Amino acid sequence: MSREPISRSEHVERLWTGGVWGEGPVWIPETQCLRWSDIPRNVIMEYDSRSQETYVHRHEVEFTNGRTLDLEGRVVQCSHGLRRVEYELDGEPSIIVDHWGDRRLNSPNDVVIASDGSIWFTDPPYGILNPEEGHPGEMEYGGCYVFRYEPDTRELHPVVTELSRPNGLAFSTDESVLYVSDTADEQEGLIRAYPVNVRTGTAGAGFDFATVVPGCSDGFRVDEEGRLWTSSLDGVQVISPAGDVVLRISLPEKSANLCFGGVDGHDLFITASSSLYRIRTLTRQASRPPSQGRTGGG
Ligand code: MG
Repeated sequence: MSREPISRSEHVERLWTGGVWGEGPVWIPETQCLRWSDIPRNVIMEYDSRSQETYVHRHEVEFTNGRTLDLEGRVVQCSHGLRRVEYELDGEPSIIVDHWGDRRLNSPNDVVIASDGSIWFTDPPYGILNPEEGHPGEMEYGGCYVFRYEPDTRELHPVVTELSRPNGLAFSTDESVLYVSDTADEQEGLIRAYPVNVRTGTAGAGFDFATVVPGCSDGFRVDEEGRLWTSSLDGVQVISPAGDVVLRISLPEKSANLCFGGVDGHDLFITASSSLYRIRTLTRQASRPPSQGRTGGG
């Protein structure tokens, strides 16, 4: 029997407010900071858990969105403005990938790293359709795909091509399933599940895993018990591996994304519209399974 997601005595604390649309949270162990994007303000924010101060980490950041850490602990993030996935090292962004063949990407939204170091990301067009979230532009390859990028060979290829607005993504604990949300319907958030082979970057037939009501499921993470913690219109919903909602955490504003972090990994940080929230949990981010033979790197 799995542990409860949170203790009943826990409550949500608001750590900071004053933003517009918070997205892309990641915990950075080295500095004990929570970093996130405020897309319309075109800034990257940080909350320092030691000083409890919140500040602008960088201005004029080309509308960054989702981010994560790679196997070496480097920040990998999505850039709406530059239509790319990029590293940010010591405050300096550098390109990872921005084209599929000779076509530019739409506006990468969220990203996850597999145990072999491959970079998987979603590519809906919000950054080229919404002027407050990027720069107007064309959808050059004519779709909105989930891609896998292999850093060593620099190969990019589509894994899932059937979704309208792929957005959040995460692997199951054993990496046999890739969850992807589709935010085309903002009232009823759909999360699809695809059996995948991480090494080959192939996906089998997908199925509807869960419907998030009130929608939508923008960003999510999977915990050690295989449960999926997703953003929603009313806060956070925790969904069992069977697809059932087992917990709702209410927030006074729409949430966009979340991540685990803190000194022991048990804090859940939630970027919800104008604010950053935190709640203690009884679980942590699922660790990656041992790589079945990583290609290159450290
Ligand atoms: Mg998103």
